[in-house]
Amino acid sequence: MSTSPVDLAQLRAEAEALAPQLTSLRHDLHRIPEVGLHLPSTQARVLAELDGLGLEVTTGTRCSSVVAVLRGARPGPSVLLRGDMDALPVTERSGEPFTSTHDGVMHACGHDLHMAGLVGAARLLAARREEIAGSVVLMFQPGEEGFHGAEIMIAEGVLEAAGEPVVAAYGVHVASSMIPLGVVTGRPGPAMAAADQMYVTIQGRGGHGSMPHLAADPVTVAAEVVLALQTAVTRQFDAHDPVVVSVGRIAAGTVDNVIPATAELDATIRTFSPEQHAIIPERLTRVVEHIAAAHGMTADVRYVRGYPVTVNDPAEVARAARVSGAMFGDDRFVTAPRPISGAEDFSYVLQRVPGAFLFVGATPRGEDPDVAPYNHSAQARFDDDALPVSAAVLAALALDRLAQG
Ligand SMILES: [Zn+2]
Repeated sequence: MSTSPVDLAQLRAEAEALAPQLTSLRHDLHRIPEVGLHLPSTQARVLAELDGLGLEVTTGTRCSSVVAVLRGARPGPSVLLRGDMDALPVTERSGEPFTSTHDGVMHACGHDLHMAGLVGAARLLAARREEIAGSVVLMFQPGEEGFHGAEIMIAEGVLEAAGEPVVAAYGVHVASSMIPLGVVTGRPGPAMAAADQMYVTIQGRGGHGSMPHLAADPVTVAAEVVLALQTAVTRQFDAHDPVVVSVGRIAAGTVDNVIPATAELDATIRTFSPEQHAIIPERLTRVVEHIAAAHGMTADVRYVRGYPVTVNDPAEVARAARVSGAMFGDDRFVTAPRPISGAEDFSYVLQRVPGAFLFVGATPRGEDPDVAPYNHSAQARFDDDALPVSAAVLAALALDRLAQG
């Protein structure tokens, strides 16, 4: 039986009854994908869908966000549910009948399912307004794919949209592979990586390849830097708290016998704890600058912070395991053994509010999760049966947390 004050069996049944409606909404959104912070068609579709649910709806000024506040019949705390809205610059080759009608743009990360799932949660919660003590803030967020949309919405007040700071925040992400259909996963603590970038220019002095002593060769310095970064990773960071540094681009020179004046390196840097994320820029910059200095040269280092580590609150992950298990069976919640190396801007919300970011398996029925095309692939397909699961999990988390007072 349910171990929650909420009637979870009933909630699941209602979510499943919404499936056809959520599926058709998801297909509509899938046909009109938009990239970035300004998603006018997507925003219009979401607003139309929320119309009539009795929500207090506002839209963003710096991006086409939608914030909808659902007030319960009685006073109480506020919680936040989030769904991101943006697509990717990918030419769709999924073969789906509801394929993108926007050239070169595709909902390849399943954010169309996130919007439909959050609309589903809104419907489930609106039907229970009389039982709710408190408020639910629905955060429809553009610009997750590298545009820092969550940070913009926080600056525009989403965390206080109900009139006071939210006490908990939840989000789900669908996966077109790796996780079996309908399985919910999460983990306490770090759930997703921080992803930074480093852009380096070694400043040497050009010359003739036959007389390197009259020049300052940045190519040899660049080669030394590439290997020194890997040495720094293994010598300066705790092996049990991994750091990944990959130099993905290196460029210098034009011809074999000319020493170029500069050499460039670009690297991606992944960390999995706020502690490593805090110290890594200074450490890597130091390695690069001092190797250049050792050879009488300088290095310009531009270190760019990406999204922070996504950190889940252990008690909120335990809540997610409990409500998911009660609705779908205990085998349907799996504690993820390690964080995911991708990054996610819901991390900005979870830096400020305890909560949980969960994954819902959307591997197409009948396909092997280990080999199905994964998120961001032009061939990625997401099973619509993940929609009622997402809607039910989000609504259950909000209701269970609000019942706690
Ligand atoms: Zn995504």
